[in-house]
Amino acid sequence: MTGGRATARTLAGPPAAADLLARAAALAATLPVTPAIAFIRVGDDPASESYVRGKAKKAAELGLDSRVHALPADTTQADLHALIGTLNADPGVHGVLLQLPLPGHLNADAALTCIDPRKDVDGLHPVSAGLLWQGQPGLRPCTPAGVMALLDHYRIPVAGQHAVIVGRSALVGRPLAGLLLNADATVTVAHRATPDLGAVTRRADLLIVAAGQAHLITPDMVRPGATVIDVGINRVPGQDGARASLTGDVHPDVAGVAGALTPVPGGVGPMTVAQLMMNTVQAAAQQTPADRRN
Ligand code: NDP
Repeated sequence: MTGGRATARTLAGPPAAADLLARAAALAATLPVTPAIAFIRVGDDPASESYVRGKAKKAAELGLDSRVHALPADTTQADLHALIGTLNADPGVHGVLLQLPLPGHLNADAALTCIDPRKDVDGLHPVSAGLLWQGQPGLRPCTPAGVMALLDHYRIPVAGQHAVIVGRSALVGRPLAGLLLNADATVTVAHRATPDLGAVTRRADLLIVAAGQAHLITPDMVRPGATVIDVGINRVPGQDGARASLTGDVHPDVAGVAGALTPVPGGVGPMTVAQLMMNTVQAAAQQTPADRRN
C-alpha cells in the first residue's frame, strides 16, 4: 500500500449534527409538551452504560425529558416486556429505547417487537422496518437516517447515484438500503458472501461501509472521486502501552482517492445521537393532536 495524499473533502459530523439538533429543537418548540424518552438498559455492560449516559446527556442539552431504567442482569423476559408495556401505556413517555446488546438469556427481537411502534425511536420495530420498505412515513433507524442527514447537510447528490453499501445488518445496512432507494439511488448491498468485494465497491458513486472490519476498504477499492461514508467503529489496541484508539472500516489512504470522506471518530457517530433526538421529537409530535401544536 502506498501512502495516500489527503485530497478528499472531509465530511465532519459535528456541524451536520448541530444542524439536525437545531431542526429537532425548532420542531420541539412547536409542541405543547416536552418530548420525553425512556431508556431501558439491562445488566452492567460498560459500553451500554456509556452510550445511554451520552444519549441522556444530549437529550438534557436539548431540553428533552429522559429517564433511565437500569434493570439487573438477571431480569427475565417477562419483566422486560412488563416494563415496556408500562412505558407504552404512559402518555408522558413519547419514545422508548431498548439499549442493545441484551444479556444472552434475553431475546432482543421479541423485546423490540413489544415497543409501541409510535414510540419506536430506534426505528427497529418490524412495523417501522415495513413502513420504511413501503416508502411510507415512520420512525427510521438512527444511524442510517443520520447518514442521510449528513449527505443532505453537505449537499451530496443521492438521486440517480449508484450507492453501494457494505453490510446488511438490521441496524445499519438494510435500513440504509431502504432509505437510499426511497431517495432514488440505485442500490447495491454487499456482504461476506459477495465475491470480489472491490469489483462491487469500485462501481459506487456513493460508498457506505458498515462492516465492523478495521480498514476493510483500501484505496484500490474506491472509484476516484467517490463519496465514502465510514460507519464502522473499531477499537484498535494501543501498541507499547499506548491507549486503544478508534478507527473506521475505511483505510485512511482512501482520502487520496475519494472525493469526500467521513472521519472516524467525528463522522457518522454524532449523527446517530442527533437523529435519536429528532426521532424523539417527531414521535412526540405524532402523539400530539395537530390542534394542540403551536
Ligand atoms: P454487524 O456485525 O451486525 O453487521 C456487519 C455487516 O457487515 C454484516 O452484514 C456482514 O456480512 C458485513 N461484513 C462484515 N465483514 C465483511 C467483509 N469482510 N466483507 C463484506 N461484508 C462484510 O454490524 P453493524 O451493522 O451493527 O455495525 C457495523 C459497524 O458500524 C460496526 O463497526 C459498528 O460498530 C458500527 N456502528 C456505528 C454506529 C455509529 O453511530 N457510527 C452505529 C451502529 C454501528 P454478513 O451479513 O454476510 O455477515
